[in-house]
Amino acid sequence: MFVDVDRLDTWSQYKSGMCDRCHANCCTMPVEVRMPDLIRLGWVDAFEAEHSPAKNIAKRLSKAGLVGHFNFKHEIFTLARRANGDCRNLDPVTRRCTVYDVRPSTCRLHPQVGPKPGHCPYGPRQVQR
Ligand code: SF4
Repeated sequence: MFVDVDRLDTWSQYKSGMCDRCHANCCTMPVEVRMPDLIRLGWVDAFEAEHSPAKNIAKRLSKAGLVGHFNFKHEIFTLARRANGDCRNLDPVTRRCTVYDVRPSTCRLHPQVGPKPGHCPYGPRQVQR
């Protein structure tokens, strides 16, 4: 079954249990996060969040390879991705999130909230070589 994360007409209706056999295509889409997400991830501590300008924090996280983009106006960070588009937190072999318990809100809300609510870019897991 062909799926293109950028083409919503190729997405499937989400059903419980689907993630167990999925290639985690949702984790190849850009993930926007805010400061509380970064604190929960342990990438920023509460003191830094309160006392450092967000753009300085963005610079530090960008240098560390954690954040790929920062929207200054809205103080929204985008998680860094690998060259193939995978989220930097995605295990490339197991296709599981390595920070699942502290993952950002955007990830928690998917697929109920997103470009096509109740649907996701499901694709069967491919064997890694
Ligand atoms: S943080 Fe985890 S759940 Fe969210 S996109 Fe990255 S790998 Fe997927």
